[in-house]
Parts: sequence; structure tokens; C-alpha cells
Amino acid sequence: MSAKVLVVEDEEPLALLLRYNLEADGFRVQVANDGEEAKVAIDEETPDLIVLDWMLPGVSGLELCRRLRSGKATRNIPIIMLTARGEETDRVRGLATGADDYVVKPFSVPELMARVRAILRRASPERIANVLMVGDITLDRDAHRVTRNGRELRLGPTEFRLLEFLMQSPGRVFSRAQLLDGVWGRDIYVDERTVDVHIGRLRKAINRGREKDPIRTVRGAGYAINDMVAVNA
Ligand code: CA
Repeated sequence: MSAKVLVVEDEEPLALLLRYNLEADGFRVQVANDGEEAKVAIDEETPDLIVLDWMLPGVSGLELCRRLRSGKATRNIPIIMLTARGEETDRVRGLATGADDYVVKPFSVPELMARVRAILRRASPERIANVLMVGDITLDRDAHRVTRNGRELRLGPTEFRLLEFLMQSPGRVFSRAQLLDGVWGRDIYVDERTVDVHIGRLRKAINRGREKDPIRTVRGAGYAINDMVAVNA
């Protein structure tokens, strides 16, 4: 599915312009006119990126950004802030509040599009082909990159292959012997306890946040990765 961009902007012509250009670029777009609408939209479906106007009726863009950054489920959503010209201190404050980037109004649409793409390339590599996704975990085979909720995970080569193997068959339980065959290969002699060691390292790497542990230990049988529906609630 294509990436979803939430535009939070109360000026209708600008919101329409952004929608038009983002959709033309292949993104799914939702527009919210203020912070309340934005909250409802985010609760419904976590966007891959938010374009957030500084000046909004009610809750300001800055305050909204701060709230999103302090929310467990929303802290990793990339945010591009739209600010008025010349608000240098405000821009600095915007970034300090956790926006990933900002553009100054009036801005060039191609420039904003380029920044949206650049941030999504970093934050949501699952939008590129040859990618496995299970729950909130994304594994990019080409880039050799794993993210959870947009947060990049650092895995050793064995942990990467182990996760890749499990993610190919979400929900399926693999015995230690099957994991040895699939991940280490039949030709190499490795003790079955090695699997436990690497599962432990993998868990440590992917569960650094407060998300649920997606790896299930099945006593007497082996391991599986849960096909999670929503873990960032
Ligand atoms: Ca505005």
C-alpha cells in the first residue's frame, strides 16, 4: 500500500494544493483542518508522515507536534512543519519540539514534495519493493534494514537472517532444528542452544521500545513471530 500523508492545515486552498500534489505523487492523503480533526485521523490510521501547519485554530501546530512526540503510538511519525516567513526563533522551536523538517511559507511545492519523499525514504522503507512487513516491523532485504514503528533497529547478520526467516511465515512455529536449517544452513554444525542465544539477541534488539514482544516461545516446540494486527495502540 502507498504511504499515507496527513495534512493538517486550515487554509483550504493550500490544503487542496498539497492534497493534489501529494496524490499525484502516489501518496494517500487525508486533510485535517485543526488539531482535533488531526487526532481523530491519527487514531483511525497512523499516517506515515504529517505535514503540519504552525498556525492552526485552537491547538497550535507546535503544541500538536509536542503532543504527538510525547504519545507512545505517535512519537515516531515524521513531521514536516509549515511555518510563516521569517519566524526564525519559531523555526528553531519547531525543530526543538521534534519536527523532522520545516518549510517556510510561501514554499515551492516541488521542494516540499522532495522533502516528503526524502523523509519517507528514511522512515518508511517498506514502501519500496522486496520488503517484509509483520505488524509494526518492517524488514527491507535490499537495504538490509529493519525498522519497528519507523525506528531503525540494529541487528547482527545472524539476527537479521533469523528475523527474515520468521517474518516469511508469520504465526508459524519453527523448531530449533528447522531454524538451524533455515538460517544457519544444513552444512554447519551448530548446537541448538545457539538458536536460543540469537533469539535472545533478536528480542533485545527489537523490543527496545515499549512495544509488545512479537516473538513467541512455544514450549517444547520452538519459536514463531506473531502476526500482529495492532501493536502500537
Ligand atoms: Ca494555517
